[in-house]
Amino acid sequence: MLMEFKNEALVNFSLPENKAAMEQALAQVATEKGKHYPLVIGGKKINTEANITSLNPSNFKEVIGTTARANVELAEQAVQNALEAFADWQYVSPKERARYLFKTAAVMRRKKFEFSAWMVEEAGKNWVEADADTAEAIDFLEYYGRQMLKYAAGMPVAPFVGEENECFYIPLGVGLIVPPWNFPLAILTGMTAAAIVAGNTVIMKPASTTPVIAAKLMELWEEVSLPPGVVNFLPGSGSAIGDYLVGHPKIRFINFTGSKEVGLHINQLAAKVAPGQKWIKRVIAEMGGKDAIIVDSEADIEDAANGIVTSAFGFQGQKCSACSRAIVVKDVYDELVAKVVAKTKALKLGPACDHTVNLGPVIDKNAYTKILEYIEIGKSEGRVVAGGSKGMETGYFIEPTVIADVDPKARIAQEEIFGPVVAIIKADNFDQAIDIANDTEYGLTGAVYSKNRVKLEKARREFHVGNLYLNRKCTGALVGVQPFGGFNMSGTDSKAGGADYLLLFMQAKSVAEKL
Ligand code: GLU
Repeated sequence: MLMEFKNEALVNFSLPENKAAMEQALAQVATEKGKHYPLVIGGKKINTEANITSLNPSNFKEVIGTTARANVELAEQAVQNALEAFADWQYVSPKERARYLFKTAAVMRRKKFEFSAWMVEEAGKNWVEADADTAEAIDFLEYYGRQMLKYAAGMPVAPFVGEENECFYIPLGVGLIVPPWNFPLAILTGMTAAAIVAGNTVIMKPASTTPVIAAKLMELWEEVSLPPGVVNFLPGSGSAIGDYLVGHPKIRFINFTGSKEVGLHINQLAAKVAPGQKWIKRVIAEMGGKDAIIVDSEADIEDAANGIVTSAFGFQGQKCSACSRAIVVKDVYDELVAKVVAKTKALKLGPACDHTVNLGPVIDKNAYTKILEYIEIGKSEGRVVAGGSKGMETGYFIEPTVIADVDPKARIAQEEIFGPVVAIIKADNFDQAIDIANDTEYGLTGAVYSKNRVKLEKARREFHVGNLYLNRKCTGALVGVQPFGGFNMSGTDSKAGGADYLLLFMQAKSVAEKL
């Protein structure tokens, strides 16, 4: 008997046994650093001449591992293998498919600290953020497995005299999974698991900055004996294989999470019909955000300041849900800014493996350069009241940065920075704060701190974001509890971890038989 879905509990690292377990996992990971991981196509391990090297962002002299790097021929091979595997996998019962997810969740749970330790080292997540990532990956497996069991019952239809009618869900075909590096386990696992449990086969093309964690997930799919070809592991660059696969006539859908630029590029490429293509490709795209926390004059300012700092600087602000704008009503502006500054200055920046740090490094050199450039722009668009500089130069460290007195139309108030930078904007009143919050091209997350019910109700109606939070932080959506995904340029309005997510990977077939 299957237990009801329950979110995976987070690890309390203040307990000595948990701290010891994490230290041991980090020591274990240290012994495996520098290892090489091949492509996996149709169950076969394939090495290539060219490799991808993954560096530790806390100390970029250290190699976390290398993976093979696919080219177009290998990408073609992966499509053919996924097609072959689809011939059988599409008819495997939903119950059996779900069981693979449950088993994967169980093994991942047993190796929880190890997975988290890999994320500390490869992605620069601090212990708590890494653990939350692993917990979310387990949640996706448990949740989508159960959702598939529900969808197996099909779509309810009305009785009709003289006929037997049914409507059931069938998979789409071969999909391409293009995940982000910022939740290198959770989002990759969720995007892949949803597609395969629905009966599709996929090509998993990991982000080039976190391919080792993805290789570890691939090892897990193999450990639970997922049939060869259901998931194919294909590291490689977007320009070398990504575009080729998106445009391939046999690719049926693309599940993407990442930047707006790449998402729009994929959407455009996928819309073109290739010779021999028999369908309209589906694109599921989760893109960026320019998420705001509104602080009303009638708010608990201490709470609001905590919410802003946590949402802005969790995983160095590298979440599409991160608070990158705080919009504060003028009556409480000075008080709020002072509190945010004090709390930000108390944060510790350092290598992610040190359990006492709040912020680790940003992911890579490109991110580092781009964020520092935005901080320079910010210096001319507002008043830097905390941070504003880089940290130690052994890794990609950037101080948590708060820039006050920013105009709502300023670049740092409109463009996604994806780093530890928050712009504070002053509003005359609550209504204006809502207008400012809505005045970007994105619509992913948002939060409002107020004790006034009328204002909270107005925000429910008018704050146009996919995930709205009232009197709490705007990050950390829980699977099954807060289905996650945004409006406008934040994506295709799909909700990861929601009850209708699996429908994106299926089509309904209606069958009528005359009796
Ligand atoms: N689901 C995450 C959250 O609620 C954000 C996902 C992302 O950054 O892509 O914080």
